Amino acid sequence: MRRKLAAGNWKMNGVKAQLAELDNIRKTHPNPAVDVLICPPATLLSDAVKTVSGYPMMIGGQDCHTANSGAHTGDISADMIKDAGGTAVIVGHSERREDHGESDAQICAKATTVMENGLIAVVCIGESLAQREAGETLSVIGAQLAGSVPDTASAAQLVIAYEPIWAIGTGLIPTLEQIAEVHDFMRENMIQRFGTDTANGIRLLYGGSVKPGNATEIFAVSNVDGALVGGASLTAADFCPIIAAL
Ligand code: PGA
Repeated sequence: MRRKLAAGNWKMNGVKAQLAELDNIRKTHPNPAVDVLICPPATLLSDAVKTVSGYPMMIGGQDCHTANSGAHTGDISADMIKDAGGTAVIVGHSERREDHGESDAQICAKATTVMENGLIAVVCIGESLAQREAGETLSVIGAQLAGSVPDTASAAQLVIAYEPIWAIGTGLIPTLEQIAEVHDFMRENMIQRFGTDTANGIRLLYGGSVKPGNATEIFAVSNVDGALVGGASLTAADFCPIIAAL
């Protein structure tokens, strides 16, 4: 059985004062039967790990380099995230793909490094509005899965987040039928590639404008094992109801 996962992506938000919200999430964490992951900015990693120490919550990074160390000014490695106490890393978020021109091959290499360090890779994929309107959603998702998910992936170390680009930060979400179509497709794609046992252990998250008001209906969709949440993960008032809905 796959454990449900509520993952929060704080993006480039939060200075030390934001740790008070993490503490609030820790204190009011409403559902111990699900996994909770928060990915703060790198500057808050160590403090965030201390904040949740001893509680069943994970802290992770939002990106990493393909290498563990070296001459890469401004970058952060999976090894550093692990050293800070992180246990997961988001790779291939559409904002990285867009802002930094990251390719599927680079994302696959990053995910490989994350897994080699013993951490969980949260691999993000998703179509643009133009791609959806052109009827290309499933072919785009198939190509991103083929290109960004490493052959070496294991169920325990891989989470895939389906995030339609046009739903991120917009308040728009696909219909529940559209979410089901993509999640069923992703599950079948993983079964074809890794076999039933591995594929059925991989957690598939939906991301893009998940809020307390829509979480329950999204989580009822087949093959949705949780959410990757941006804006609504920044406060306990928003994130805890989403955890509770899982
Ligand atoms: P959002 O972001 O929940 O603010 O739409 C989701 C994400 O980008 O992971």
